[in-house]
Amino acid sequence: DTIGANLDRTVAAHGERDALVDRASGRRWTYRQFADEVNAVAFGLVDLGVEKGDRVGIWAPNCAEWTFTQYATAKIGAILVNINPAYRTHELKYVLNQAGIRTLVAAPSFRTSDYAAMIDQVRPDCPALTDVLLIGREEWNDLVAIGRGGSVAQLEEIQDGLSADEPINIQYTSGTTGFPKGATLSHRNILNNGYFVGELCSYTAEDVICLPVPFYHCFGMVMGNLAATSHGACMVIPAPAFDPALTLEAVATERCTSLYGVPTMFIAELADPSFDSHDLSSLRTGIMAGSPCPVEVMKQVIDRMGMAEVTICYGMTETSPVSTQTRADDTLQRRVSTVGRVHPHLEVKVVDPETGETVPRGEPGEFCTRGYSVMLGYWEEPAKTAEAIDADRWMHTGDLAVMDDAGYLNITGRIKDMVIRGGENVYPREIEEFLYTHPDVVDAQVVGVPDARYGEELIAWVRLRDGAPELTAEKLREYCEGKLARYKIPRYVHVVDEFPMTITGKIRKVEMRERSVELLG
Ligand code: ATP
Ligand code: MG
Repeated sequence: DTIGANLDRTVAAHGERDALVDRASGRRWTYRQFADEVNAVAFGLVDLGVEKGDRVGIWAPNCAEWTFTQYATAKIGAILVNINPAYRTHELKYVLNQAGIRTLVAAPSFRTSDYAAMIDQVRPDCPALTDVLLIGREEWNDLVAIGRGGSVAQLEEIQDGLSADEPINIQYTSGTTGFPKGATLSHRNILNNGYFVGELCSYTAEDVICLPVPFYHCFGMVMGNLAATSHGACMVIPAPAFDPALTLEAVATERCTSLYGVPTMFIAELADPSFDSHDLSSLRTGIMAGSPCPVEVMKQVIDRMGMAEVTICYGMTETSPVSTQTRADDTLQRRVSTVGRVHPHLEVKVVDPETGETVPRGEPGEFCTRGYSVMLGYWEEPAKTAEAIDADRWMHTGDLAVMDDAGYLNITGRIKDMVIRGGENVYPREIEEFLYTHPDVVDAQVVGVPDARYGEELIAWVRLRDGAPELTAEKLREYCEGKLARYKIPRYVHVVDEFPMTITGKIRKVEMRERSVELLG
């Protein structure tokens, strides 16, 4: 199926059920009404001259129009380019030109971001950009009005001419390890991935899914929207951007059965002063992804939020995104200490990054995956594509993993973060976890710095609890002595208030390494 054909099928089966609730504006749509909006935008874009393969950018926080644009572009075969709402002019200009965006749909503004002004500023430098449609403003309203008069037969004809293997979406990676790369994805890639995520969450048309995660990211648009629409479930947008109290309120009011978030979102919800005043008893399941989840948080999500079937996913933009997921019947221990088992219809292997040979179970190596989920390639970056996907179509993720005898995977870090000290491979994650056991340490991150004698030495950046006494390298080393192998004990320590982060909330180790080198200068 193409994404449009799949939506048509859901509309035929569940037309009168709720499809979407946008809490900020108080609007809601049944599947039939949702399809009418999608068709209006699709036809409006056709009227504007947008054709199959043209790039249509979307730059807005979560809102109903985001999803209309998502499905409208899929219906006409235009390639949707997700633009991070946190971007500013430098990044915006890069994406507009890199992807050759012709039509840009954008929110006029949000909080302190004046999107309209930023677009005006970069427009002279973006020759491919011919149309800008500001949501809720005249051009957008006109487009939708024209689209409402369009013929469904014409849209069906366009849709019938599409193939599921054609590109439909460009998503940029988070840029944790360098400049973001544009993963180019097909209907087959993301529709199937969303469908299987929904299957593993046992979604039916009875489910109501609360989505405080951003749509510009695959977590929102694939694991959220596509999982929902392929199962006839309802999407709830609690607010344009994450807000813990509004999320809890949306769950209680809409009787949501599923809730998504990265671990820090769940932590904020559990700690919110309004927590006890909301009835969350409708919750059954949900997804936590993006980074490892602390045990205590997982326990509270299950016990205090009632999400007995909550699952953990691992994936990356390049693989649509999900490769592994825990199942509802996995033990608590497995749901906190692993990222689950391989997803349906995918292959995975763990290889020695040097030789490419599969390593024995229980030993660390590079996580590789193959199957329908692997992207078509990086948009206009054939050299980078060739580095990531080998001749046998295996995607080399750059992540280090260990697979146990039962097939559960554990992500132990990124290859680029691995430190080689005096010939020994050191996995920073292992040391970080040990440092958490220090009573004064709130958070710890370890990177390697060049060293004349050992090749690399370890430096630990730590955040201390309020009022903790000074922590010298000497004292920290003493703490590690006898508990960690000598070569794993950090030589240096650097106390900080916060770590350098990406806009998606990931720690930028590249920057930590550069700053450590300056520090030790
Ligand atoms: P870039 O590729 O631009 O450097 P990025 O890899 O952070 O950035 P994403 O595609 O958003 O961009 O993130 C995918 C990465 O996130 C994975 O390769 C992995 O390192 C990490 N990750 C995803 N899910 C999990 C998880 N459940 N546990 C641990 N790490 C995870
Ligand atoms: Mg990556």
